[in-house]
Amino acid sequence: MLVVMQHEATQEQIEGVVTAIRNMGYEARPIPGAQRVAIGLLGNDGRVDPSRIEGLSGVTEVIQVSLPYKVVGREWRPDDTVITLPNGAKIGGGSVVVMAGPCAVESEAQLNTTAAAIAAAGATILRGGAFKPRTSPYAFQGLGLEGLKLLRAAADRHNLAVVTEAIDETSLRQVAEWADIIQIGARNMQNFTLLKAAGQTRKPVLLKRGLSATIQEWLLAAEYIAAEGNEQIILCERGLRSFDPNTRNLLDITAVPVVKQLSHLPVIVDPSHGTGRREKVLPVARAAVAVGADGLIIEVHPKPEEAMSDGPQSLTLPMFDELMIEIAKVGIAVGRPISMATVAK
Ligand code: PEP
Ligand code: MN
Repeated sequence: MLVVMQHEATQEQIEGVVTAIRNMGYEARPIPGAQRVAIGLLGNDGRVDPSRIEGLSGVTEVIQVSLPYKVVGREWRPDDTVITLPNGAKIGGGSVVVMAGPCAVESEAQLNTTAAAIAAAGATILRGGAFKPRTSPYAFQGLGLEGLKLLRAAADRHNLAVVTEAIDETSLRQVAEWADIIQIGARNMQNFTLLKAAGQTRKPVLLKRGLSATIQEWLLAAEYIAAEGNEQIILCERGLRSFDPNTRNLLDITAVPVVKQLSHLPVIVDPSHGTGRREKVLPVARAAVAVGADGLIIEVHPKPEEAMSDGPQSLTLPMFDELMIEIAKVGIAVGRPISMATVAK
């Protein structure tokens, strides 16, 4: 970290900053310049809060040299994290994993039909919300624990793993018990209490990017989970809040190569929430595989017109079959094979 002093900073102010840095337990090295003095803070292990220095008398700017996250950063661990699920599915490390299912768990029949279809098409992980964070308090809020049990049963019948969202600490305990991956949704990306609680479980966590989160904020949210000792984290780009009503969100496809350079964690893409319209899901899924995503999470419904949430962006079962065939072609073209379920078809 480099602390840049004001042009007219006095010797007393410079010494004040040096003393403050030393009192924080770091080494301070003043670097005199023609216009102003800068002070190098050495030994920053990512824990220095720049706001403690920014407010000191005579300081004009604090420049971060080292990254504020450590455990999730590639600087500290160059090799890709690969997460292995109980059904054998692997996330990260070069192949592309597909998670699919309805936005919300609605009924046993809906889930069984979907699970059978996605497994036959090659997906390895069943998604479905049992606890739904809805914009309106009057919208369907999910089946709760009952939904988790339905998910587990439908998934086990087809050797699928389960990913589902936890929205608070109570649902987190239940999700950790019934699912294989705990999803933290976009709206909770900076719910630090929830992140810490997820970090205390030993289940993989799928962390969606917040609606207006920078990549650094997203990685720091992941660091909250990792700092509690749970380093099995999957990052999911799902689109940002934008000004253009043509898409529900603006999918930041660039985030994939950017984050993969900064972090060793697997990064997947959600083209369903990212676009909001089912006809846009396939082209964007192709792009996600081509750009290097480690997986996709796709909303699928046997009857999207009857879906209790996110029907307009849910693929029909035949559309999902087509998507699997199309992304397999892209996977071959870019040397990232789609990992397929080994279920009998
Ligand atoms: C979801 O996956 O159903 C969901 C609510 O996603 P997000 O948190 O990205 O909106
Ligand atoms: Mn949804």
